[in-house]
Amino acid sequence: MASPAFELRPTPAASAVAASPFPIRWHGWAATEPGPALVVMGAVHGNEQSGTHAIRRWVQRFESGQARLLRGRLTMVPVANPKAFGQNTREGDRNLNRRFLPLPEPRDYEDHAVSVLAPLLASHDALLDLHSYEGDGVPFAMTGPQNNGGPLEPFARAAEELALARSVGLPRIVQGWLEVYDKAVQASHGRMRGDEGLGTNEFMRSRGGYAITVESGSHGDPAAIEVADRAIAGALQLLGLVDVQLGEQPAQQIVRLHDVFIKRDHGDRMSRGWKNFDPFGLGELLATRADGTPIHAPFDGCMLFPHADAPLEREWFYLARR
Ligand SMILES: [Zn+2]
Repeated sequence: MASPAFELRPTPAASAVAASPFPIRWHGWAATEPGPALVVMGAVHGNEQSGTHAIRRWVQRFESGQARLLRGRLTMVPVANPKAFGQNTREGDRNLNRRFLPLPEPRDYEDHAVSVLAPLLASHDALLDLHSYEGDGVPFAMTGPQNNGGPLEPFARAAEELALARSVGLPRIVQGWLEVYDKAVQASHGRMRGDEGLGTNEFMRSRGGYAITVESGSHGDPAAIEVADRAIAGALQLLGLVDVQLGEQPAQQIVRLHDVFIKRDHGDRMSRGWKNFDPFGLGELLATRADGTPIHAPFDGCMLFPHADAPLEREWFYLARR
């Protein structure tokens, strides 16, 4: 028998491969008709895998010819953080959705992942970033700031971004994260860093694109896969990339983040087991500081991202206006 033309060497153990043992894989399609370029990512947090499953369904639909790209470009990254995904943990060495900035000398795994993903994202107009959350609650989409020329996050594509957020078919849209996160940084006595607020979405906006994050449901809940699947369909339809017939849209409520409270003392207590989107009225008692100082609602609004056991000098809860 003739010797083979080539032979793959056995894959070395992960530890033997310098700093980036887990390569990142993506699928891409480009139509001959010009149009917008969309990138869809899953598993930026490795234990948030509903987006990965939904993306794989779409890859299969394109590969089988069931779906066809009509114009523009589409890139799908089923697993943005293979190290964390392989461990089924949120992070590999650190949170990939913080300090999403290419560095001249990447050090940890996520630094290397950013070096790979940042130029990929920057070559698209829009990003759909698929996540899931701990515990129950309502799925929601997140957008960024209003159009502005300010120093923190200048932006000019708020209308396109909101249209993308509406297209994914979720009942809640949360706006304006970085601005309020920056308030938390100011109030954290140096424990939180400003550049930690820069995730995938903020990076897209800094490169002239626009981006939304979809929180599609509880980690591991099969329903979250359906939500993510429908979210991709909505984005593809909105941008005219695929001809897809969508079912009825739910009524959508838009809330804007307005305030954030920092956990200062282990004795700080919330007034009840607040959940995401729980409404409150002006003046309602939200929490009490260890020294007895009450925190009353400064407006009619709703609770977001409550974290009763937050580490000291970190975000305890956010407040949003309807
Ligand atoms: Zn996440």
